[in-house]
Amino acid sequence: MAQMAFLLVTALFAYFIYRRFTLIKMAINLGKPADFSDNKPERIKTMLLIAFGQKKMFDRPIVGFLHLVIYLGFVIINIELLEIVLDGLTGQHRMFFPIIGSGLYSFLINSFEWLALGVLAVCVVFLIRRNVLAIKRFRQPELNGWPAKDANTILIYECVLMWLFLSMNAADANLQALADPHYPLTGSFVISKFIQPIVNFGGNAEAIHIYERTAWWLHIIGIFGFALYLSWSKHLHVILAFPNVYFSRLKPVGEINNMPVISYEVKSMLGLSVEGMPTPPTEPGRFGAKDVTDLTWKNIMEAYSCTECGRCTSACPANITGKKLSPRKIMMDTRDRAQEVAELVYVGEKPNSDKKSLYQDYITKEELMACTTCNACVDACPININPLEIILEMRRYVALEESATPASWNSMFQNVENNAAPWAFPPSDRANWTEKVNG
Ligand code: SF4
Ligand code: SF4
Repeated sequence: MAQMAFLLVTALFAYFIYRRFTLIKMAINLGKPADFSDNKPERIKTMLLIAFGQKKMFDRPIVGFLHLVIYLGFVIINIELLEIVLDGLTGQHRMFFPIIGSGLYSFLINSFEWLALGVLAVCVVFLIRRNVLAIKRFRQPELNGWPAKDANTILIYECVLMWLFLSMNAADANLQALADPHYPLTGSFVISKFIQPIVNFGGNAEAIHIYERTAWWLHIIGIFGFALYLSWSKHLHVILAFPNVYFSRLKPVGEINNMPVISYEVKSMLGLSVEGMPTPPTEPGRFGAKDVTDLTWKNIMEAYSCTECGRCTSACPANITGKKLSPRKIMMDTRDRAQEVAELVYVGEKPNSDKKSLYQDYITKEELMACTTCNACVDACPININPLEIILEMRRYVALEESATPASWNSMFQNVENNAAPWAFPPSDRANWTEKVNG
């Protein structure tokens, strides 16, 4: 009976998780193709350093260390999930204990318990940091509402999961002491032994048994629920950070992507070789990006990978000087819009059938125009996200499709076209100022 219930719960969660992740995959695939198949060794190295090694997190060492505790704790403790799932499916209890022996088993569970304690402590610190300390990057308008609730929910959720794990072990040890034959004699564990008196219920075996089973079920349902919840949460980065970093841009940071169609035209006009360049299509499509479907799949994957940490925004000179631009908001808006469009496509509608777009409905011209293209956001991001690429693509749309750039920019564009420089005088006059210096 319990096995059937377990199978049913697992199958239900697997189905809903599959559906949600299919939708996310669909959202990412809304983007245009982009090739990141080059330089695999460099990509693997980057992923090991930045995603697994969390190298950029240690730019701020204390937070970096605390984040590492949560990350390791959560990943390693979940190894235990394998045993729980197998126990659930076979109706056994702690089935690895006789297989790997008491020494190794105790070592592993004790290690998990230390990590669980670490995760609990760090979650409390992070809750205080988010809600009590006035840290500017956690108080910005784009975090109002759901993003702030999401961050707190997940921290509290992790605390509950860790408590269930520890108290389940404590109740288990109490049942062993009462010689319950279903519970192998693993003995007490390093942290949960301090919780044993709390879940002893005056030595009432039935009450302890009910608690142990309840904690066991809530723990496993909680982990399945966490996997499902991830698909709505910024914590999706625990999965997507790895492919996202693998597919990092390997070009020098300041190198801006050219638009092949325009490069082809300019080179042709200047009589330069266009050999090897893709021939422009007869219908060039859209210049720049108005909606998520004009971005690449990688831009959308980055949006889904964003941790909403705000390191980009706190490094952004436009934001620091009070402009409306926040690179974090650019990523959050891109993700929200991609999700909205994917939901339309999922039910058979056209991507733009809601008559909305990323430009205007989510991101305004004022935000786009405030960017200095300094790349500070790109440099600051712990998982190599590039908000600037989205900003530039959208700004290209504003300039090339809407001709809606500010007047001061237009005269600069004209100067570049006529004088090959942003200044309002011809190249022949460029050195005139030296005469005054020499004179
Ligand atoms: S590139 Fe733009 S968005 Fe990024 S930090 Fe610089 S000004 Fe801000
Ligand atoms: S883009 Fe990077 S730095 Fe900015 S909020 Fe997202 S994860 Fe943090």
